[in-house]
Amino acid sequence: MVDTTQETPKRYPVTPFVSERIRKITDIFLEKDRTFSFEFFPPKSKKGLRNLYRAAEELRKLGPDFFSVTYGAGGSSSKATMEIILELQKRFDIPCMHHLTLVGQTRDDLTGVMRHIIKSNVKNVLALRGDPPPDMGREFRKVEGGLGYCYELIDLIREVAGDKLAIGVAGFPEGHVDCPSKELDTKYLKIKLDHGGDFVITQLFFESATYAEFLERTSRAGVTARIMPGVLPITDYRKLLRFCDTCGAYICQRIHDVFAPIQETPEATRKEGINYVVDLCKELLNLGAPGLHFYCLNSVEPVRTIWKRLGL
Ligand SMILES: Cc1cc2nc3c(=O)[nH]c(=O)nc-3n(C[C@H](O)[C@H](O)[C@H](O)COP(=O)(O)OP(=O)(O)OC[C@H]3O[C@@H](n4cnc5c(N)ncnc54)[C@H](O)[C@@H]3O)c2cc1C
Repeated sequence: MVDTTQETPKRYPVTPFVSERIRKITDIFLEKDRTFSFEFFPPKSKKGLRNLYRAAEELRKLGPDFFSVTYGAGGSSSKATMEIILELQKRFDIPCMHHLTLVGQTRDDLTGVMRHIIKSNVKNVLALRGDPPPDMGREFRKVEGGLGYCYELIDLIREVAGDKLAIGVAGFPEGHVDCPSKELDTKYLKIKLDHGGDFVITQLFFESATYAEFLERTSRAGVTARIMPGVLPITDYRKLLRFCDTCGAYICQRIHDVFAPIQETPEATRKEGINYVVDLCKELLNLGAPGLHFYCLNSVEPVRTIWKRLGL
């Protein structure tokens, strides 16, 4: 175990909010077969931040199990992620999951962030390799004194935090873009779980058959952890193409067929987007999905409408 009593780096203010509701997601699993959650990203402006807290306030009213906050490329939003999480936990008394990527950071940097996470009474981390920041090109490169794969980050988290943190990992139903095959990628997912990952949240996808096939493949590989589908609301066809290109998500033909013809009509896209995602979510839950993780993009709508239509 690494000594966690050392001082955390000065750049982080520590104001932990303690409440019995702020707990590990794995403890929630003991009571619930399904969990529902919303993901936010750290905005660049103060206005964006106010908007995030307003959205969180509305979405909190729906009774989600947890919120999560992403980590900028190359660790660029490390401080912002933590500040938002502290504020969300304090304002809304809800457990938050801190995304943590290893890219561009040394073991010491990551250990510092983890110590701060523990001291701040954050109980959940989504462990990720991360993608390089745009100025570094697309290819991932390990920094000196840093780590190469997510499973190494999981080892470090367990070394620093023991079982104080629940650890989620990313899963890729279509296989990760840099991996030559889905089977191999599934093998790597199993390694992440064997190294101490507790549950999986998936990359976004658009057909329930993709999830069903992923469940089958992961089950064959011996994965028993919960695999929560990540769901992206559809509001704008062109934005969707750009978003999927950035995060390496595959877009099925059906999405083009449904949304390309109505791309110039925002109202029709919005309506069809809600119908499409509601159907997808219903199919996923019927397949036995242990809940849904919504990429809400810091907006209340259309997630709230989707949530209500699902009767959650
Ligand atoms: C739910 C979710 C949330 C995300 N949140 C963020 C975020 O907040 N910030 C951010 O920057 N990015 C985020 N990402 C993106 C993620 O960081 C990237 O997709 C990244 O490229 C892969 O991360 P990973 O943790 O899956 O990496 P890894 O599991 O390390 O995999 C990276 C690559 O290496 C391969 N690989 C894995 N293990 C091995 C091994 N043992 N030997 C050889 N090859 C191996 C994999 O097949 C893959 O191609 C998120 C993704 C998801 C699905």
